[in-house]
Amino acid sequence: MLKGKVALVTGASRGIGKAIALELAKNNADVIINYYNDSEEAQGVVDEVKKYGVRSIAVQADVSKPDEVKRMATEIQKDFEKVDILVNNAGIVKDRSLKNMTLDEWHSVINTNLNSIFYVTKSILPSIPGGGRIISISSIVGQYGNFGQCNYAAAKAGIIGFTKSLAKELGKKKITVNAIAPGFIKTNLTKGMPLVKKKMIEYMIPLKEEGEVEDVASVVAFLASDGSRYVTGSVINVDGGLAF
Ligand code: NDP
Repeated sequence: MLKGKVALVTGASRGIGKAIALELAKNNADVIINYYNDSEEAQGVVDEVKKYGVRSIAVQADVSKPDEVKRMATEIQKDFEKVDILVNNAGIVKDRSLKNMTLDEWHSVINTNLNSIFYVTKSILPSIPGGGRIISISSIVGQYGNFGQCNYAAAKAGIIGFTKSLAKELGKKKITVNAIAPGFIKTNLTKGMPLVKKKMIEYMIPLKEEGEVEDVASVVAFLASDGSRYVTGSVINVDGGLAF
């Protein structure tokens, strides 16, 4: 489905990003793996991606830092002539009620989850050809808010505004810009919330289970494919019905 396409996935050393990288590779895209800390995990993903017979490299960069993102874009250009599919996935949480939230907790979550989208998209955009795809991972928390997540919810809501605006700017080049809003997905990010999860599943999720990383990855693959050519400025919820 994606033969000849090159994809960059940020935060692809584990969790949802890793699943996205593997799904795109399964569909024959070459995949660039961005990671922050864990070079061993990232190299492991590169090795798994290559098993699909496609090209892959790992590129370290803290996406919350504009200079590191610029360096990443330059490194990518050495190996790849273009990036057809950009997936802005890297993200963190630092939860606390606003009353107790520190300036650092605010800034680091906004920088990693939202400012990164500006840095990465702006640096990679010159390499994205007509017909390219920009897909950003938001969250249902950006639509509905959540106790203890003013920083995260503001960042994830910002991604939605960014997506809709950029879709309007890039439509004439046939580059589509969409966001995905996952609900509760089984990853490190949600591992420390067993009680909240149990209650959510019991009372609030119509499908009565947490999502798997592959549930998000398959929607990214659809948005990356030719089949989604007339979809832009959209937010697709992948949440088992939690948010309707
Ligand atoms: P994980 O914590 O499992 O993985 C996060 C990934 O992001 C890791 O690869 C990590 O790299 C990378 N990362 C973190 N900070 C940076 C940084 N500054 N620069 C580059 N990479 C970084 O998270 P998930 O897989 O659960 O989350 C992926 C995305 O999905 C996030 O944007 C998250 O907000 C969103 N999401 C997740 C939900 C869930 O239920 N899990 C629900 C809704 C949205 P490294 O390992 O190298 O540090």
